[in-house]
Amino acid sequence: MKKIFAILSLIALAFVGFFKGEAMATEKQTVIILLGPPGAGKGTHAVELSKKLHLPHISTGDILRENLRKQTPLGERAKTFMDVGKLVPDDLVIQMLLDRVSDTDCQKGYILDGFPRTLAQAKMLDEHLKNRGEVVTVNLSVSDDLLVERITGRLVCKKCGTPYHKVFSPPKKDSLCDRCQGELYHRDDDNEKVVKERLAVYRSQTEPLINYYKEKKGLFYEVLAAGNKSEIFENLLHTIQKSIK
Ligand SMILES: [Zn+2]
Repeated sequence: MKKIFAILSLIALAFVGFFKGEAMATEKQTVIILLGPPGAGKGTHAVELSKKLHLPHISTGDILRENLRKQTPLGERAKTFMDVGKLVPDDLVIQMLLDRVSDTDCQKGYILDGFPRTLAQAKMLDEHLKNRGEVVTVNLSVSDDLLVERITGRLVCKKCGTPYHKVFSPPKKDSLCDRCQGELYHRDDDNEKVVKERLAVYRSQTEPLINYYKEKKGLFYEVLAAGNKSEIFENLLHTIQKSIK
């Protein structure tokens, strides 16, 4: 009799475990993907979105740095590529990402910034997200001319690192920092040639992603990322909130 009771309780426990697991797996996740060229403001907007939507901001750059710092097995593997000046391969990037988004703070969803970067990464992410929830993709669109103007006009304080822009946020005194009076300088790689090269890489690698997400059945939106920063953000936030209601 005791034995039967023990078996019955085991079965009951297994059932509870099963339903619990099921409930967790079916909790609706909202995954927000921000696409857009370098200089479109993805990082800045992702930080603000994270606060408003109470979803963690997941940046692949941060994840990579974290894995390197903690010397995880994935970080150690990534390092072998970086040490010889190679890009960290797609499968390694996605493994680190999936590792990160399995943390409990990502249960309700997360905001991706800088991922996916290639079509292969997008497909791997899709495979992972299958039936897990809603994916909202927003493309921050900006013209090349504006991006070149934004990036080539950047100035940075030598002392404290505060960023300025010749046109959009100039210092009060020419070439001196408002905060610490340090000297402002222009980074060598913020020139038109380098910016155009970066954009060409982006267009060839990441633009196919835009078509990919457009053609899928998911939610895809374009937000014009030119003009006033807070207006762009309001527009972005409104677009996302409307779509996940
Ligand atoms: Zn300064």
